[in-house]
Amino acid sequence: SLKSKTALVTGSTSGIGLAIAHSFAKDGANVVLNGFGKPDEIERERSAIEAEFGVKAAYSAADMTKPDEIAAMVREAEARVGAIDVLVNNAGIQFVAPIEEFPPEKWDQIIAINLSSAFHTMRAAIPGMKARGWGRIINTASAHSLVASPFKAAYVAAKHGIAGLTKTAALELATHKITVNCISPGYVWTPLVEAQIPDTMRARGLTKEQVINDVLLQAQPTKQFVTVDQVAALATFLCSDAASQITGANLSMDGGWTAE
Ligand code: NAD
Repeated sequence: SLKSKTALVTGSTSGIGLAIAHSFAKDGANVVLNGFGKPDEIERERSAIEAEFGVKAAYSAADMTKPDEIAAMVREAEARVGAIDVLVNNAGIQFVAPIEEFPPEKWDQIIAINLSSAFHTMRAAIPGMKARGWGRIINTASAHSLVASPFKAAYVAAKHGIAGLTKTAALELATHKITVNCISPGYVWTPLVEAQIPDTMRARGLTKEQVINDVLLQAQPTKQFVTVDQVAALATFLCSDAASQITGANLSMDGGWTAE
């Protein structure tokens, strides 16, 4: 169990990250939430975790595009909550457009949030994990870390990048009892997926129903969305002793998408 351990989950005010934070807290971990949202809703989530699971829950508003805010988030979490034993790099955004119309600032933002922020959090959290001789680093990658789709240049590049970063970190930390893995979900029904439907309708000239059935679920042989709780259960398993020899892996949870 994660009792008396501390987990930092980036991008955990919504979707997959929030489900992971809940699952870790249920397993006994203190958690540090991060991400954007309405302050009162975030405070409600934070205090609900403390009340429901009897753990400490903190919140950092650090912007994952800002390396100095990321370093401060890790420092403050260690001071206020506890040494970071589990780090989940999960914050991510999407943008859908053909390359020649893709705004350069969107490219930079997606590379910063979906890829570079994981480098910065690891840089800050690894020394403590090494000193204590235990750690778990889990990166939320994507089926798009293994295969591509058109109109998602920055996202696919960032996700392929985080798969490579995961392997490198796993090798560097292999003898320190620190495992580093990525989870690669297919389509999970979250605000991130819902928000890209209008852009995909525009880019491909389709209706909402066509985007859901002919684009999103078309990719998944099971014809079902992955759930946030399924992803959270895998993340929690990766923190267990049973998973101590899983490192450098890219674990797909994609309804068969990347088998095709
Ligand atoms: P979501 O939109 O529900 O959550 C994204 C989280 O990231 C939110 O908490 C948001 O506030 C936070 N965030 C965004 N920009 C940030 C920034 N600059 N700084 C700090 N936090 C920021 O999306 P989700 O679907 O739960 O996505 C979570 C992760 O899972 C992402 O990395 C995404 O690429 C990945 N993923 C999602 C799916 C899917 O189908 N939903 C599939 C594969 C991978």
